[in-house]
Parts: sequence; structure tokens; C-alpha cells
Amino acid sequence: MTALRFSGPVLPDGQVRDVYVVDGRITYERPLGAETVAEGWIVPGLVDAHCHLGLGEGGAITDEEAEAQAILDRDAGALLIRDAGSPLDTSWMHERADLPRLIRAGRHIARTKRYLRNYADEVEPAELSAAVAREALRGDGWVKLVGDWISREGGDLAPSFPAEAFAKAIAVAHAHGAKVTAHCFGHDVLPGLIDAGIDCIEHGTGLTDDLIESMAARGVALVPTVMQLDKFPDYAEAGRAKFPDYSATMTDLYARRRATIMAAHDAGVALYAGTDGGGIARHGNIAGEVIAMAELGMSADYALGAASWRARDWLGWNAGLGEGDPADFVVFDADPLADLSVLYRPARVVLRGTVVA
Ligand SMILES: [Zn+2]
Repeated sequence: MTALRFSGPVLPDGQVRDVYVVDGRITYERPLGAETVAEGWIVPGLVDAHCHLGLGEGGAITDEEAEAQAILDRDAGALLIRDAGSPLDTSWMHERADLPRLIRAGRHIARTKRYLRNYADEVEPAELSAAVAREALRGDGWVKLVGDWISREGGDLAPSFPAEAFAKAIAVAHAHGAKVTAHCFGHDVLPGLIDAGIDCIEHGTGLTDDLIESMAARGVALVPTVMQLDKFPDYAEAGRAKFPDYSATMTDLYARRRATIMAAHDAGVALYAGTDGGGIARHGNIAGEVIAMAELGMSADYALGAASWRARDWLGWNAGLGEGDPADFVVFDADPLADLSVLYRPARVVLRGTVVA
């Protein structure tokens, strides 16, 4: 049995401690013969609350490519991942001690021809509840709906399904013990989802004050994927000639994004960090999302907590590094709360008690 020693301020409280790792777990009782590995700022394992493992630009990729994505995330310090929908069955990653801990939502569920090609399980309203039941059984406790997308007939963003179909599907997921989250860019899909008891909203650029109040009261989380929102001007440009209403909507949502997300933050909605890695966005950039959240106006403590201790707690893991907790943490040479760009350079990444990077 080898014992490892790490030393330095342990976030979130910043108390300077000697942290020992024995048998994959944290202990503060000094074991015999502990080998010092690193000194620095010790942060509970980072969390990417919205990315896609096994998803490439054209849909599913190979297991080897998915593994490479997971290693990029891990080496950037993301040791717990909530996969927000993947066409590839990545359940095999659960058997891999060297890959991040994974909470999968199964496949995206979208309306027929109303999402990116080859990404989702595409269904009609009458089939939605059955699809949700299927993905609830396949996933790790979450189901991902594509809440809205461009309707080519309507020429603008539109809810993917009628509110009643969404409500029934959310009830079915909950009956299967799964939580539900949904991709939502626009406004119109949100009232029905929030009323129906959805657990989380992804992106959320269409939120208004009344909906924000309702989310805060009901404890619905928001993963704003701030970096992803920077692609809205490209979507607006691509749609300008054929779908001018859609183009104007995306331009407007983009212009209001900071005010919208900060209104949710200020109202007490819990926000978590998601990179939206996979598809066209790269993996291994949780630092970029934390910085993007801080640039909107959140404190460094809030933004880092959204990708570490608060997110871990939300997803059912140890928030901080307590006695006996799983030894998942990242060591930095400098204080990330004083300068978030420190997050781009983990000095050591420890996963399940093993130094993996
Ligand atoms: Zn996504």
C-alpha cells in the first residue's frame, strides 16, 4: 500500500492542510511512509456538467475517439462528467478506472428532423414518453430532451413537442427514477417544461424574469454553456437568407445573453459549468467555461464552485475533500481563485487516488 501526500490550501475554504491518499481515498491522518507528490492549491475534482462523449460533428464516433475525448477532459481536471446526450453507448467507460466518472443521459431525444443530423433519437409526440422511458433505462439517471429547435415550416425557433407531451414525458422519466434536462435556446418551450417539473435547463437564453423566479422557487438548475452561446451569431448568419425570423431571434438572444444569465444567477437559480464539448466544440476546456462564467459577472468563487464543489454536490458526489472521501482532486501551482487562468494548467490530476496527469 502506497500513501501519497499533497499539501497546500484546500478549496473551497482554503485551509492549508496535508492531504493523504490511501487506497483511493482521502485521509488527514498521517500514514507511515507517505510520499510527497505535490504542494499547491488543492481543488475537488472539476465537473463538466454538459458535454458529449462519443459525439463528433457528424454524429457517433468510435470508442477510441470517445476515449481520447474523455482523456482530454480528465487531463484538464474534469473528473466528473454529466454527459448531456450521445449517440454512442459509452457505458463501457464505467469500467475504466483511468477515465472520468460519468453520468450519462443516454441519447438526445428530438422531434423528427428537428435537430442536428445523426445526433438524436428522433420521434413524434405520441412516441416521446416511450423514448424517454427507454433512455431513462439506458442512462445513468438523466434524460436529455431537445426542447426547441428551428421549425422550417414556422421559420423560427419552436418547441419540439406540445407542452402536454413534454409534461407526460417528464412524469415518465421521474417514475423511472431519472431526472430530465432540456436544450432550450428560445422562450416558448420554457414555461411548460418548468411547470411540468423539469430538473435542469441547458443554455436557457430565452429565460424571462417570471420564469427565472419560478426556476428559483422550484430549485431547477441552469447550465448556461456560456462558451457555446458565442456561436449564436454564426447560427444567425447561416439562417439569415432563408429564415430571417430565426436569424433575428438568435441575434436577440445573443445580445441579451449576459443580462439573462446574470438575472438567473442574481435570483438564486443554481448555475453549473458545462463546456458543451463534443460535436463541434472541443473537449478539455472546463477552464474556459469557468472563465466565461466569471466574465459575465459571477465571482471567481461562484464560477469555480459551479465546476467543482457545488456541481459535485448537485450530482450526488462529495462536495469537498472530507475524511474518507474518494480522492478525486486537482492541484494547481497558484491560487485559481486569485487568477482563474491558473485552471488551464493543472500541476497534478488525481483520480480515484491515482495520479493520472
Ligand atoms: Zn450539448
